[in-house]
Amino acid sequence: MTELKFWNTLTRVKEEFTPIDPDNVRMYVCGPTVYDYAHIGNARPLIVFDVLYRLLKHVYSGQGTASDGSRVTYVRNITDVDDKINARALRDYPDLPLNEAIAKVTEKTAERFHKDAVALGCLPPTFEPRATAHIDGMAKMIQTLIDKGNAYVTTGREGREVLFSVSSMPDYGKLSNRKLEDQQAGARIAVEDHKRNPADFVLWKESAADEPGWDADFTDGGETTTIHGRPGWHIECSVMSEYHLGETFDIHGGGLDLIFPHHENEIAQSCCAHGNDRMANLWMHNGFLQVEGKKMSKSDGNFVTIAELLETEKFGGRTWHGGVLRLALLKTHYREPLDFTLSSLQECRKDMERFFSAGSRYHAWSFVDDWMLAGLTEPYPEVIEALSQDLNTPLAISILRQKAGASGTFNQNDAIQFASTVRFLNLINSKNAGSFSGIGAVSDSASMASLRMPKYWEIVESLRVALSNCDQGAIDRITEVFKNEGEQVVFVGDGNFSLETLNPNQNVEQEQQVKSAIATRLALIAAKNWAEADKIRDELLAKGIQLKDGKDPETGERVTTWEVKR
Ligand SMILES: [Zn+2]
Repeated sequence: MTELKFWNTLTRVKEEFTPIDPDNVRMYVCGPTVYDYAHIGNARPLIVFDVLYRLLKHVYSGQGTASDGSRVTYVRNITDVDDKINARALRDYPDLPLNEAIAKVTEKTAERFHKDAVALGCLPPTFEPRATAHIDGMAKMIQTLIDKGNAYVTTGREGREVLFSVSSMPDYGKLSNRKLEDQQAGARIAVEDHKRNPADFVLWKESAADEPGWDADFTDGGETTTIHGRPGWHIECSVMSEYHLGETFDIHGGGLDLIFPHHENEIAQSCCAHGNDRMANLWMHNGFLQVEGKKMSKSDGNFVTIAELLETEKFGGRTWHGGVLRLALLKTHYREPLDFTLSSLQECRKDMERFFSAGSRYHAWSFVDDWMLAGLTEPYPEVIEALSQDLNTPLAISILRQKAGASGTFNQNDAIQFASTVRFLNLINSKNAGSFSGIGAVSDSASMASLRMPKYWEIVESLRVALSNCDQGAIDRITEVFKNEGEQVVFVGDGNFSLETLNPNQNVEQEQQVKSAIATRLALIAAKNWAEADKIRDELLAKGIQLKDGKDPETGERVTTWEVKR
């Protein structure tokens, strides 16, 4: 079996990975707080841990005891109770009852998140628990913590609350490598005298009338208090991971920013409630993401959501295919800081075309999915090896680049193995393959529309992206644009389409235009007016018409032919 090695934030070394139960490898990753559309930084853990999930499923393949019959269980939660959600609900739906307004915000945001995840090529997790469905479990774990002396009921500025007592846990701060004394010395936390220690954090807090709440009883020192309130953020992951994965599981993942306080506090809650010294054996964290060298922020104007990248022209003046975004996020090692730039997206777009064309030999895309399912083809061993060494995706991608560069000598098996490796990383699959075809199924006659439409190829590209993202609204809009230009979009399946001229006479008209431009240019050349002649050539080229100069073999006269280019 392939030996897996990963960097462990908890032990600060690269460790060999040995699952607790090889028939059910268990992984938990902190999911989104559904108050706003996910930004491109949120896409990083989504994609990184999707690759890890795929690698685990590959290494631990076959029948297992996970609930789906496989050998890997992947849990990613949805945080649907949070003060940011309340604020958004009050702002966006001021006339609705609070619960309805909150449900609207969370449903709409979660739906968009799922759409983004699919467009980015991510598998759904085995379980996707929502915090609001585990409130009872949270109240129960909080009571256990009170009973064990790790939590206490107190009254803060905003009412009654239950706090975790950090001083009750001797090794609190182990994950983030922070010592409690240092925190107290260094932290300039306003003294809150209801706290036993300034670092004590909220497990449950009382809700005001305009905040969502549940009634929960807590007994502390023989006295029972009912607090109509809501859970703190950290407790949900402790409860939901235990519910689906047990007290101790294999891998816990998330972004670097979650190490402290979120993951530190998850560990404190779970370990103290269960009396274990570990919540998860391996803690993996992805690095930060910047946009064009700067921290992403709404005020700097470089804040971009996944939805905007997929469906609008906000970033770089065009829509981007989910596969291109996926490649761009995997090109940098997951623990390194990542700079998300327009030039890197443009480069990735080219890589995807190269990958597509290398896997197009022998029509490999059309049957690679079936072959992989049937176990008839495997990804390159060296790519699996790269991923096995702390998820070295940059190395895996550079191997793909090298192989694509040598695709001219591919035989059928080579092409299928290349395609299955690209498919394994889910950069391209049989459904979206057509979106990366450089030429596509756009017929030559229809390309004449490029004469009239200055952004013709960009529009064709947008249609490919929209098809691949199943964005029906955009598909309809673009179809309409072509219709107005006398072109009918005909969908031929697998993300491909052709354009057919509605009025064939227009074609003749365009051909006339090109011919007359060529005649003018030849006359200019004869008059040695090179500058004007070149101008005509360049103008046609900008419209996708490439001129080719040659000589008539019989008369020796200069003749110019032309072809439609991208
Ligand atoms: Zn979490």
